[in-house]
Amino acid sequence: MTAPIERFDQLDLQAPILAALAEIGYETPSPIQAACIPQLLAGHDILGEAQTGTGKTAAFALPALDGIDLAQRNPQVLVLTPTRELAIQVAEAFQRYASKMSGFHVLPIYGGQSMVVQLRQLQRGAHVVVGTPGRVMDHLERKSLNLDGLTTLVLDEADEMLRMGFIDDVEWILEHTPTTRQTALFSATMPDAIRRVAHRYLREPKEIKIKAATATVSTIRQRFLQIAGAHKLDALTRILEVEDDFDAAIVFVRTKTATVELAEKLEARGYAAACLNGDMTQQLRERVIEQLKNETLDIVVATDVAARGIDVPRVSHVINYDIPYDTEAYVHRIGRTGRAGRSGNAILFVAPRENHLLRQIERATRQPIEALKLPSREAVADKRVAAFRQQVAEVLESEELDFFLDVIAGIEDKHDADVHQIAAALAFLAQKDRPLQMPDTGKPDIAQIAAGKPERPTERPAPRDNRGQILERRRDYAEGRLARYRIDVGREHMASPKDIVGAIANEAGIESRFIGQINLFEDYSTVELPADLPADVIQILRRARVRQQPLNLRLASPEEAGRERGRPAPGGRGPAPKKPFRKEGGFERPAGGFKPPRKPKP
Ligand code: ADP
Ligand code: MG
Repeated sequence: MTAPIERFDQLDLQAPILAALAEIGYETPSPIQAACIPQLLAGHDILGEAQTGTGKTAAFALPALDGIDLAQRNPQVLVLTPTRELAIQVAEAFQRYASKMSGFHVLPIYGGQSMVVQLRQLQRGAHVVVGTPGRVMDHLERKSLNLDGLTTLVLDEADEMLRMGFIDDVEWILEHTPTTRQTALFSATMPDAIRRVAHRYLREPKEIKIKAATATVSTIRQRFLQIAGAHKLDALTRILEVEDDFDAAIVFVRTKTATVELAEKLEARGYAAACLNGDMTQQLRERVIEQLKNETLDIVVATDVAARGIDVPRVSHVINYDIPYDTEAYVHRIGRTGRAGRSGNAILFVAPRENHLLRQIERATRQPIEALKLPSREAVADKRVAAFRQQVAEVLESEELDFFLDVIAGIEDKHDADVHQIAAALAFLAQKDRPLQMPDTGKPDIAQIAAGKPERPTERPAPRDNRGQILERRRDYAEGRLARYRIDVGREHMASPKDIVGAIANEAGIESRFIGQINLFEDYSTVELPADLPADVIQILRRARVRQQPLNLRLASPEEAGRERGRPAPGGRGPAPKKPFRKEGGFERPAGGFKPPRKPKP
């Protein structure tokens, strides 16, 4: 009939309610809210069909609050919910939406709570009562709850109340409330029993059904990550770093406040990010989109409305930082990527309690959403090192370096420094702004947290048995006889130290007395081996497998090597001994190094 409702102030709600919503940061009414609120304000009964997470609470709570007479201390609104958790949750929502209505009082009542306490609270009076059917019935029978002044009755999650066997109680309550009341019934599904109740007790209800979403685009790869709110930011930055085809992203959050906060945090971490929300002028919004197009910005943190219809082909990723409140919003959001025939990525953060929403989205879009596995700190560091190597290789190949060779020769003379050390110092300088290593914050790796692993690292340094051995090993490191290597097999592959020794001994013919300490971590291990393993042995051990897992043996990074000893490896740059530098860029092996006895394989 009229233009679609895009803002809460287009609804005829009292100023204190609008002020509370502005403070909470809701930007636009969800579809069920836009459909229900005007009807309820106009006094109609409602029969609403909508899934969880669509914003039903505000759909009935806002118009209910609008009609409350604060001067009257008796219950004017009653909400029935199937469980005590929901009763508490709905009561809390009322409290939030009424935060600017001074003197407002809402009371949750449910079984299991002390009767004495409840009676006292009821005596004190409340404008809104939210309760489970059984307990509400009890109080009505005891006459401790007087519903003579009731104007609005809400049945929330009616199908759930039916399923839990409360439907008779619900009908009994309906029969014991004033017939002049307004009634709203919400249900995710509409089984016959619920329809019957609706026909019997609702007056010409307006039927409102929020339809499921349309199909999604198949060129968009959809993934989800199970992650608690507190860890979302770390997970996001990890994803931004490791996604191979990353170009630009739109990150969706639920509130205007969150757009500002998150954009600021990303900026502080060095990303070219900005927010996009309904509070910004049209002109400002257009500028943000323009900057995203011309690559001044790479990340836009937006609410649903503000991002509606954005068409920027370079958007490679849509991140659902806060889960959308319905599948339709989800489909709209992810449609911001995979544009102009390109492929796109949609990543959905799912908090532990939002699992049902994930399944609902999968059902509605008829597409499975795969689980995203966050790469570990080690994997990120490896990736950074690989990129760095590539950069160095490119410079070696394409740049004229004579001038710089002179500079290095100068340093070499003046400080009597080894070329390796100079190169390492330069590498250090080059990565200062974007470190190659992941700082070990002492906190557990976000990858483990996301994988549901315990937040406390379970790996502890093995207790040292004997001091003499430690000192000997330290000397071995210092003199370059021993080095710590990394292999890509760990606890999660069910590998044991015995398996690892077995594979190394058998495949490379290294006697076990040359194999030192082995430390198992979640997805990799470290093992002490002679520092001067010949290249062909290393090659064999790269391909050797333990538990079907290629070992991919390589020198451990200082961080990996230092982890089990609680300090960096000697010299802070890995245990490799100094070796003469050759012009071609290769390394010469010191003569007389380790030569493993070749054993025929059994
Ligand atoms: P339902 O009852 O349909 O399952 P809720 O009322 O519990 O849904 O709302 C789900 C979540 O969405 C809540 O966290 C709520 O704060 C949030 N929410 C509801 N309406 C809006 C809105 N208009 N804008 C942003 N967030 C909203
Ligand atoms: Mg609800």
